[in-house]
Amino acid sequence: MAGLHIWLDPGHGGASNGALGATGLAEREANLRLALALEKRLQALGATVSLGRRTDKAVSLEDRIEEALENHADLFLSLHCNAVADTTDPLSVRGPSVHYYHGLSQWLAESLTASLAANLKSLDIPNYGLVRNNLFVTRESIWFPAALVEFCFISHPGDEELLVSDEGIHRLTQSVVDGLQMGLLQRDPETNAKE
Ligand SMILES: [Zn+2]
Repeated sequence: MAGLHIWLDPGHGGASNGALGATGLAEREANLRLALALEKRLQALGATVSLGRRTDKAVSLEDRIEEALENHADLFLSLHCNAVADTTDPLSVRGPSVHYYHGLSQWLAESLTASLAANLKSLDIPNYGLVRNNLFVTRESIWFPAALVEFCFISHPGDEELLVSDEGIHRLTQSVVDGLQMGLLQRDPETNAKE
């Protein structure tokens, strides 16, 4: 992954809590924790990594994209956790999903979907799916491949457990590493063969 500038966008922050976990974990905290863990792993593979926020602060959706663009990011990953509506049984839905909008991002979203499914299969966590989704960050990312990853349903106690355990964080970040490596290799076998 040497030479690649990966932009990590931990969703929410500050007054924007995001979703709330089964036992009270705030999504904004979980997203940042995942981003910081992911940063280390991607840097270890030679990538240049930037974070849209490194602390618990609010960042507007516009700034999230603009900053990545101004800093010439090659690839944009927005990190989130999903939750069911209050009227839905929290135990009925779990698992990761990946969202993208533009055609240039499809390879990235597909590759991340496959790696999340593979890494969570042994835990019996189903894959929630790949979604072409008109979200601000997926729609406005027209200069670089972009995907929004909902790592799990924070509203499901088993999924929330992933976000607070070292093993869970390891698996989720490993999924992103695998997905990026797989996707880059398929896209450009010659440049990425040795990485
Ligand atoms: Zn979110």
